[in-house]
Amino acid sequence: MDSLSKQTSNVVNPANGKIIAEAPNGNAEDARMAIDAARTAFDSGIWSDLPASERASYLFKIAEKIEEHASELRQLETANTGKPLKEAEYDIADAADCFRYYAGLVTKPDGQTYPVSGPVQAMVVREPVGVCGLIAPWNFPLLTGAWKIAPALAAGNTIVFKTSEVTPITTTKLFEIIEEVGIPDGVANLVMGGGATVGNELAESDKVDMVSFTGSTSTGRSIMKAASGNIKNIALELGGKSPNIVFADADFETAVDYALYGIFVNAGQICNAGSRLLLEESIHDKFIDRLIEKAKKIRVGPGDQPSTQMGALVSEAHMNKVLQYIQLGIEEGATLACGGKRITSNGLEMGYFVEPTIFVDTKPDMRIVQEEIFGPVLTVQKFKDEAEAIQFANDTPYGLAAGVFSQDGAKALRVTKKIRAGITWINAYNLAYNEAPWGGYKQSGIGRGLGTFGLDEFSEVKQININLEVEPTKWFNQ
Ligand code: NAD
Repeated sequence: MDSLSKQTSNVVNPANGKIIAEAPNGNAEDARMAIDAARTAFDSGIWSDLPASERASYLFKIAEKIEEHASELRQLETANTGKPLKEAEYDIADAADCFRYYAGLVTKPDGQTYPVSGPVQAMVVREPVGVCGLIAPWNFPLLTGAWKIAPALAAGNTIVFKTSEVTPITTTKLFEIIEEVGIPDGVANLVMGGGATVGNELAESDKVDMVSFTGSTSTGRSIMKAASGNIKNIALELGGKSPNIVFADADFETAVDYALYGIFVNAGQICNAGSRLLLEESIHDKFIDRLIEKAKKIRVGPGDQPSTQMGALVSEAHMNKVLQYIQLGIEEGATLACGGKRITSNGLEMGYFVEPTIFVDTKPDMRIVQEEIFGPVLTVQKFKDEAEAIQFANDTPYGLAAGVFSQDGAKALRVTKKIRAGITWINAYNLAYNEAPWGGYKQSGIGRGLGTFGLDEFSEVKQININLEVEPTKWFNQ
């Protein structure tokens, strides 16, 4: 479990700043060892040659074990990320479901045949890509791990997984489970360490066939470059600045509720957070009043207290980044309608807590409207009609998610279809399903995880043409 250098880094509970563990801090050499193990395992066929049903049985066992350890995992996730126990509980259950989903999917009929000309039967089959480097962020440590590991293993790949250096605890536990269920040696490998060392090695190595990355758009950009050496397959789930559009004819209380849920769940540290609220002019003031009234009542506190509704931000460095953005918003001339400060009272002074924050009177070109803040900070824009709502919605480099609230079904669908984003909701926000594709347009990523798309992403497609009349072509007859 130690890194070759024997170096470690501290893992901190963001609710109180206390060190809760020391994690191995691996380097490029550790990554190379793990890659070699995955390469040898893949080339031996020890995993990819297994019948799909046998691979599936391992994944079913992993799901069971996650559920067996759910209570411990949920507490560890809360201690490491700061999120409330209720959210961690959901993440752990969803991670188990994800393993179960891919265990089921991989044994279902697959492939197609094509009616081509001539006495030939054409068909395609799905095969694993090979060695997959999987790189995860800190906001949903176990869940984003499951989203990658389950489909990658189901498809027959071998993997090297890199946790975020900030939140390695639950994935370490997951790899103990993977070992416990007896997945063959070398098939699933965990490396801990920094992005510039371990992560970069996974993206760069010629022995890795695919890199699947979830994280920020700027890191995604370096990964694309690093992965170009051997033309790796790449899957990128990146950042967002997603619009949540509320028309005047929306169900008012439902829209207010989802506007809060869209931005303040997980303290806004969600790639698809509804961080830009777009309100139709005629309801703007009334909506804001209600939103502020409710935002002020959100109970912020340590994730392990049952009454807590919003937890700490993941680290001191991240909290400072969020606070800098709030300062920037004020300097840019937006009006701070509520929140805006670090919470330093009621026993929260050692943790990284920031008040639920709402900016109004924003302009589309402000940096707080354009850039991902990744914290509990909502910017509000006022629009006059459908066309302007669509224009504002599409006016950032991102295209991950969007919500539309209206009781006019045709309008809601019309607007949704005009939004350049991969994940959308009508009269809802933030819902995610293992069964449905996940990913972004524009600078929010490349490819789609989850659902059948997730299995395809970790697969190569092979065309097989079978000649049904075995005789020479006579093409070069002299
Ligand atoms: P990050 O990009 O800083 O780090 C993500 C991972 O990449 C970490 O494991 C990190 O160590 C590693 N890394 C950093 N530099 C690297 C490099 N040069 N080469 C290879 N790996 C490197 O992101 P983060 O701060 O951990 O997570 C927050 C970001 O993730 C936000 O932008 C958020 O929107 C995004 N995110 C997206 C999704 C999605 O599904 N689209 C889901 C969750 C998070």
